[in-house]
Amino acid sequence: MDMTALIADLDGIRIEENDKIIQQKSRDFYWYSPVLKRQLDHVTADLVVSPRTEAELIHVLKACYARNVPVTPRGTGTGNYGQAMPLSGGVVLSLADLNEIRQISPGRVICGPGVICSDLDKAAREASGQELRMHPSTAHTATIGGFIAGGSGGVGSISWGGLRDFGNIIRLRVVTMEAEPQVLELTGEDLHKVTHAYGTNGIITEVEMPLAPAYDWVDSIVGFDSFDEATVYANALARQDGILTKLISVVAAPCPFDYFKRHQKFLTEGQSVVLVMVAPHSHDAFKAFTARHSGEIVFDATTAGDLKGLPPMFELAWNHTTLRALRVDPAWTYLQTLYPFPNQLELTSKMDRMFPGELISHLEFVRFDGDITCFGLPLIRYSNEERLDEIIDLHNAHGCPVFNPHRFTLEEGGMKQTDEIQLAFKRQADPKGLLNPGKMIAWDDPDYDFQSGKVWLFKGLKQAS
Ligand SMILES: Cc1cc2nc3c(=O)[nH]c(=O)nc-3n(C[C@H](O)[C@H](O)[C@H](O)COP(=O)(O)OP(=O)(O)OC[C@H]3O[C@@H](n4cnc5c(N)ncnc54)[C@H](O)[C@@H]3O)c2cc1C
Repeated sequence: MDMTALIADLDGIRIEENDKIIQQKSRDFYWYSPVLKRQLDHVTADLVVSPRTEAELIHVLKACYARNVPVTPRGTGTGNYGQAMPLSGGVVLSLADLNEIRQISPGRVICGPGVICSDLDKAAREASGQELRMHPSTAHTATIGGFIAGGSGGVGSISWGGLRDFGNIIRLRVVTMEAEPQVLELTGEDLHKVTHAYGTNGIITEVEMPLAPAYDWVDSIVGFDSFDEATVYANALARQDGILTKLISVVAAPCPFDYFKRHQKFLTEGQSVVLVMVAPHSHDAFKAFTARHSGEIVFDATTAGDLKGLPPMFELAWNHTTLRALRVDPAWTYLQTLYPFPNQLELTSKMDRMFPGELISHLEFVRFDGDITCFGLPLIRYSNEERLDEIIDLHNAHGCPVFNPHRFTLEEGGMKQTDEIQLAFKRQADPKGLLNPGKMIAWDDPDYDFQSGKVWLFKGLKQAS
């Protein structure tokens, strides 16, 4: 790679050549996984490039294409899985400066991919009393483009389902990696070409997202003596069609008391909790429903007094639960699982008991194809890779599919099969395979057997190390 020549090509565009900053911008939250930490710690780009307009971005892609330089897009690097890490070096393409909010109208917002999710919510709320249907628990730091390319759902998924469900993205503008990059507008079925594709087959330069009415969501914590009681309550609350919630999470003891340090004064040792965000007009109904289920509301933001220093409820949920545990005890790692409808209560209970001392249950209730069920982000006490794989195998064997967060490829972190739509689009949009290399097995190794049980090795990563 002739980086000196590339730098000359990029004259006038913001670039970063400081090694320390390049290394920082070559990382994401891969270190949640001890496996990825071992594999990817050395990974670093050669250059960070930050275009400010789509025209500058096209100029960068053309130059990199001509010089065969890999390009790894990046929002703000809050993803897990090493999604935004440049496995073969080259350019990290920061989209953070494409952050213009262009239009807010009833039911929709149009903006650049680099807008921080909570800034988008703030602007939509101020302009029209609306907010994003869903956001990651990293809303205060993550970009909307990174959420679409790397995330799956989050706060709001209890009402709206996942990010890739029909209707949760309206339109994406995508630039291809070709000698003459094309600018495509994707809608409807075509959106599946690039959503959750880790930026392996196009750069998103504009997004159009649906909006929902904004509320001053009330944060609450409901305490229970056992995990099973908490889960049964959470499932029943999620099924209450008349109570509008934005978050229903179950976190088993001892995590809440031991790791939710700033809320600890509200919690009792040994309690499992349900974290809830409820709309103000549903608050009374929520309290009545909770009383009927003998749940104890141990924290209610409307009566808790001074809330200064307390994080919002969603920053205890989704992958923030893992973060809070890791901050206190770095021996924890995690998994991502699904407990499929209609057996979620039976499955969560079974898996909760299967690994005493090694697993703490953590569930996120969601609406999934019209049914209520839950995803899991259980905390796992890490001993070694063999045992981690065993725990994953046991989940799969019991009908709880694992989206393995200890793998950096799309397929191994997902459904362990080729996504033919994304692969076909990559052939068209990135013929040289320069976008985020090493993340799509189907591209590098079309004959790879996903049932082989072997970890896939990316040859490009070896060369970089
Ligand atoms: C504490 C914690 C909590 C989290 N909670 C959630 C959660 O609730 N829900 C959830 O879904 N995720 C969650 N995540 C993962 C992550 O924070 C989100 O997915 C976030 O939206 C990613 O945004 P980002 O700007 O940081 O993207 P990055 O990490 O920078 O990028 C993510 C992926 O998208 C690609 N990409 C970025 N921008 C573009 C673009 N414009 N065009 C093409 N490709 C692009 C990158 O190459 C990378 O593959 C969490 C992570 C942490 C550490």
